[in-house]
Amino acid sequence: MDFISKRVQNLATSATLAMSQKSAELRAAGIDVINLSVGEPDFNTPAHIKEAACRAIEENFTFYSPVPGYMSLRKAIADKLSRENGLEFDPTQIVVSNGAKQALCNVILTTVNPGDEVIIPTPAWVSYVEMVKLAEGTPVTVPAGIDADFKITPAQLEAAITTRTRMVLLCSPSNPTGSVYTREELQGLVDVLAAHPGVLILADEIYEHINYTGGFTSLGSFPQTADRTIIVNGVSKAYAMTGWRIGYCAAPAAIAKACTKLQGQYTSGASSIAQKAAEAAYTGSQECVAEMCAAFRRRRDLVVELASKIPGFKVNRPQGAFYLFPEVSALMGKRFGDKVIATSGDLALYLLEHAHVATVDGAAFCAPDYIRFSYATSDDKLAEAMARIDRAVRQLI
Ligand code: PMP
Ligand code: GLU
Repeated sequence: MDFISKRVQNLATSATLAMSQKSAELRAAGIDVINLSVGEPDFNTPAHIKEAACRAIEENFTFYSPVPGYMSLRKAIADKLSRENGLEFDPTQIVVSNGAKQALCNVILTTVNPGDEVIIPTPAWVSYVEMVKLAEGTPVTVPAGIDADFKITPAQLEAAITTRTRMVLLCSPSNPTGSVYTREELQGLVDVLAAHPGVLILADEIYEHINYTGGFTSLGSFPQTADRTIIVNGVSKAYAMTGWRIGYCAAPAAIAKACTKLQGQYTSGASSIAQKAAEAAYTGSQECVAEMCAAFRRRRDLVVELASKIPGFKVNRPQGAFYLFPEVSALMGKRFGDKVIATSGDLALYLLEHAHVATVDGAAFCAPDYIRFSYATSDDKLAEAMARIDRAVRQLI
């Protein structure tokens, strides 16, 4: 007898986490796999943040925290949004969650009714479509390929909006493409949305600080639509804190209140100790953020140079995040022995088995002609991984 609900049966497994797990298993079996699948900084959490967590334990921040987070952390986040992004949120409009992932899911479950449409430009991070499905909403994907630098146009957005559109979800800098919308490009999208007052805007700004353009424009900073824009961000990427699980949404008061109600029924407040660490991240020196970004930028240059020499790989020059998303359709139909590479999934598997490099199939990001690799790892490992991929690809005929 199958006891699994239809809701979960219909849910896809997170391909990023699954591939990372597979690569960890191969490593445990003694195979020297280079894991470029999961996207997380390879740096340790900065010392002053770890010290704040140790202090929190000593000072007995070990009890349940308030469901939307400690007020001191919510104030620190409101200050950050004001200082760095020019956004004015009252701390009560901020809800702290277990990572940006839960913050996104809270917002979607809180605002999307069954049958509501959510516009998702693709390629898109693996979890957006699945979260919308959990809310019984209808994901409406709007594709933008490598030739468009993976960015949708105002005309595409306008064409996707219907009377059932509830929300548009935008991620910039983007996972998996690394593309960053300029202020002018965002203004173009906002101009379209200004004419549709019933549409919410959900801005996933988790890669804000891993940005090589020299400036960042928050989608919340456009007066025409600011009152219906929800910002999601967190400490995972900017402060190398993926395991601490702290993210947040900053939202119109009614939505923040509803997210708190939802979270109060299924996870409660996020870890008390991790919240104190996150507070130190936001209030302490920001030097570590710039240092890590400089390292990612150097690695971006390295992988773009090496990957563009691999036969059949078409690459762009990502402006942010730490992913490269080559178009690989030229390799489809090639063979290794009697094995045909028919899909980008076959290619990802081939690279894992023959090059011992873990990547993620583009299909998981609604872009089946691509594969993703994360370059958040050391220069040496990246150079070795690219050499291995190059060799393996040249063996295909
Ligand atoms: N949004 C995007 C685009 C991401 O890549 C990630 C990384 N997992 C998240 C949200 C979730 O981040 P967190 O680790 O804070 O849950
Ligand atoms: N966001 C990262 C990635 O895309 C972490 C894994 C996940 O949560 O999906 O690889």
